Amino acid sequence: MKRGAPDTGQQLKETAGRLLKEKKADLVIGYERGSSGRRTRPAVITDEKDVDRLIFDNTCGLSLVPFVRKALRAAQPGTRVAVVAKGCDGRALVQQVAEGQLKRDQVVIIGVGCGGVVDARRHPSDARRPVQEASSVEREASGVLSDSCRRCRYPNPPVYDVFVGEPAEARTGDEFAGVAEFEKLAPADRWAWFERELAKCIRCYACRNACPMCYCEECFVDQTNPQWFGKSAERPDTTLFHLVRALHTAGRCVDCGACERACPLGVRLGLLNKRIEQEVRERFGYTAGLSMEATPALATYGEEDKQEFIL
Ligand code: SF4
Ligand code: SF4
Ligand code: SF4
Repeated sequence: MKRGAPDTGQQLKETAGRLLKEKKADLVIGYERGSSGRRTRPAVITDEKDVDRLIFDNTCGLSLVPFVRKALRAAQPGTRVAVVAKGCDGRALVQQVAEGQLKRDQVVIIGVGCGGVVDARRHPSDARRPVQEASSVEREASGVLSDSCRRCRYPNPPVYDVFVGEPAEARTGDEFAGVAEFEKLAPADRWAWFERELAKCIRCYACRNACPMCYCEECFVDQTNPQWFGKSAERPDTTLFHLVRALHTAGRCVDCGACERACPLGVRLGLLNKRIEQEVRERFGYTAGLSMEATPALATYGEEDKQEFIL
């Protein structure tokens, strides 16, 4: 923290307390320290006396957006939920409003500038220093910064009701550089890479459950009548699951990296998501999560749209 800069954690507590006290929100969803010092978990605060539980640091990688939806589903009509939102979470909220899944007045967005979050799976097991003490430069150098954060262009939420702390600086450079590097490989090598990654998948669905944009009441993979896909963890079934999920999030994925961080087997899902994001940007000039008013790219069509896939 810079000298004289506002203390984000303290501001967050004060803001949450004020929102509850002034009845601008019925509950606040934020982060609290988990049982392991390196992880955080969602905290649902309904009493201003509990705001001291709230924290914000680079271990707050979980997207809280799915918890907003759950809270609203269980709540009385008219309930307002305040939520702590990093840049990518803010974009997910914006996209959900654009898709008609959330009403703007149901949420109070507490924006925070985000310097990137760590991928807890990459911590060296013998590291003694709490990761939240490390600077962003150290985190990047040590390789624990999430891939999505290394290329993040939107570290601050595009829309918010109140902002705590200082805005973060967006990264520069080509956000699709990883995709370009991958595409230098021959098609057979690219496919072999995907096969190797997907071979690790045990179909636990942690990726889907962590995703702020996977909000269907019943996911296609859970349906039994009709049953669209096989339910095994064999390669053909897992491949179909991931390809269809990637298409379902096409033009909607906000590159938060929550799916990749949630995966217990380290399946690198981000590359496929990023490639599809690039395709949507090039074809339709659309970036998810920036405007509540713009019609999502795949929710509309234009007569000039390319249709080279139609034979
Ligand atoms: S992608 Fe990473 S750096 Fe960007 S807002 Fe999300 S968590 Fe923060
Ligand atoms: S979290 Fe990982 S192992 Fe689980 S379904 Fe997703 S990719 Fe497969
Ligand atoms: S697909 Fe992954 S990166 Fe994209 S919005 Fe969902 S969790 Fe975030």
